[in-house]
Amino acid sequence: MSFFSKFLKFGSHNMAIDLGTANTLVYVEDQGIVLDEPSVVAIETINGIERVKAVGDDAKMMMGKTPDTIKAVRPLRDGVIADIEVAEKMIEHFIRKVHGKRTLFRYPEITICVPSGATSVEKRAIRDAASNAGASEVYLILEPMAAAIGADMPVTEPVGSMVVDIGGGTTEVAVLSLRGLAYTTSVRTGGDKMDEAIVSYVRRHHNLLVGETTAERIKKDYGIAIIPEDGVGETFTLKGRDLVNGVPKEITINQAHIAEALSEPVGAIVEGVRIALENTAPELAADIVDQGIVLTGGGALIRKLDEHLREETGLPVSIAENPLTCVAIGTGRAMEDPIYRGVLHTA
Ligand code: ADP
Ligand code: MG
Repeated sequence: MSFFSKFLKFGSHNMAIDLGTANTLVYVEDQGIVLDEPSVVAIETINGIERVKAVGDDAKMMMGKTPDTIKAVRPLRDGVIADIEVAEKMIEHFIRKVHGKRTLFRYPEITICVPSGATSVEKRAIRDAASNAGASEVYLILEPMAAAIGADMPVTEPVGSMVVDIGGGTTEVAVLSLRGLAYTTSVRTGGDKMDEAIVSYVRRHHNLLVGETTAERIKKDYGIAIIPEDGVGETFTLKGRDLVNGVPKEITINQAHIAEALSEPVGAIVEGVRIALENTAPELAADIVDQGIVLTGGGALIRKLDEHLREETGLPVSIAENPLTCVAIGTGRAMEDPIYRGVLHTA
């Protein structure tokens, strides 16, 4: 490192970013997670010209409630970057929000976690956005690797392990060994599909129209992967608009109904795990029998999903300690700890 770059680094706080389909988290060296906001951008169109109206928490609050001139966009919704320009604006916004008004000379190194399915064009766009926001150096790490490091899995050892990261837009299933991804597959099913499944279930069975925000809340409060033991579980009410006469109404449903609604997305996740297991080399598969499968991402919090996967695969299944922050913490550790050198990429 030259004297000049040492001087630039002096006092800087390197940053790690978990660029998720639902949430973006920023981890700062020596500080931990300092930002945790939805990956949402609200765009306003005035006289045909689009401009960013709000990003993150402020933008998510507008979702489903925006007038015609404002649209709320999730640029990474399906795990691929749907809108590169909006994604770049979002990344820059979050970096500037964290980096704030620190002096001109304190440029941080930024490590960004990207979905394993991101194309090289998308990766370059992400790098450029971070550079534009002032990063002196940008490193990338693949999401399953970051999730596994954050979940304390033995990724640097010659031992196979499996991580299943259930995010908003995608579920990433990966087998890791010796700092590398031995196998990885991405399923376009995650928390969003679960929300949509709840919306369509109550529409079909109760003629009730509910928004995705309401469905997400129901999923978090009552979501369960299998029918509860007593066949019913908790009973609760749900408000929305009657499809027949258009007026607001309230219905009563229970957790067994939610399990039924979620059976399709949950089935797709189980299928992704099954395909990964089938494609895993025998020696690594043998390790997974001992190590088990670790679940990360917000979707890991669906009740009894671990139990369901255990029954379906016959393998030990556990949930990471902090499924929602695991990837950000893993990205931060990969940036800070030399033991993980080799998992970061520059392109
Ligand atoms: P991403 O990495 O794609 O941004 P996250 O790992 O942050 O996704 O997870 C977000 C998803 O997890 C959302 O769909 C959210 O609704 C869901 N989620 C968050 N908390 C819970 C919970 N307690 N139960 C079920 N799903 C949850
Ligand atoms: Mg994630």
